[in-house]
Amino acid sequence: MISVARTLKGVYGSVMRYPDNRSDVLEGLMVALAQFGLDADARLNWLVGFVDRDLKDREAAEAATHEAMLFVFSARMAKVGPRAPARIGGLDDDVRDPRQVREAVASVERAQREVRQALKAFAVDGRCTLPFKVVGWERVPDGRVLPLVGGDWWSRFYGAIFALVSELGRTLGVCANAKCQRLFARSKRQAYCGPRCSQRERTLRFREMHPDRVSDQRHATYVRAQRKRLGEKVSVGRARRAKTQDRER
Ligand SMILES: [Zn+2]
Repeated sequence: MISVARTLKGVYGSVMRYPDNRSDVLEGLMVALAQFGLDADARLNWLVGFVDRDLKDREAAEAATHEAMLFVFSARMAKVGPRAPARIGGLDDDVRDPRQVREAVASVERAQREVRQALKAFAVDGRCTLPFKVVGWERVPDGRVLPLVGGDWWSRFYGAIFALVSELGRTLGVCANAKCQRLFARSKRQAYCGPRCSQRERTLRFREMHPDRVSDQRHATYVRAQRKRLGEKVSVGRARRAKTQDRER
């Protein structure tokens, strides 16, 4: 990982021609790289977070774009797995020009929207539109010949997303919470993207199956709060239930 970071630092430094006083940008990049690295699960987590980020101000847009570029770098440098569907091309004139980087920063919100819509469509329908440019092909060490992704930064980013999703294959899950449907890297039979969604579903299911118990629990909480406020002996009334009105009397 450290050597990759050094390589990137070299590549990035020469490509971007950032003046010395922008070393903070490089520092930020290294932090970003350490976050998602070359590991497919970690890159998916980064991607899921990327589509929900607030990119309104310039700094946020720059940071997100630089991280997206690192996403492309790591897709290029990651080991070509057995399910890899494509290779990400090396840095050529299409992207080496600093103007291309500025162009990417200026259009990051559009790219984010396109990726968000594509991932949503993919989660719901199993298909999506997220076009990238294929500029050639390349033979990989195991003998397969794979299409080579090129074009501008966003084309390469979209190609890297396609490569990641293909690489994850069956371990790619869609959160079973209908309001979420985020993609996630599944371990075993995990149905939800995280504890928040699984807890939310458990609560909803419990409420559906035991509407009276939920109501009783709420009332008990209310009684405790009122007694704490007004004293132990206070008698706490209860609003009528819509369906089982008479039980409380
Ligand atoms: Zn979820």
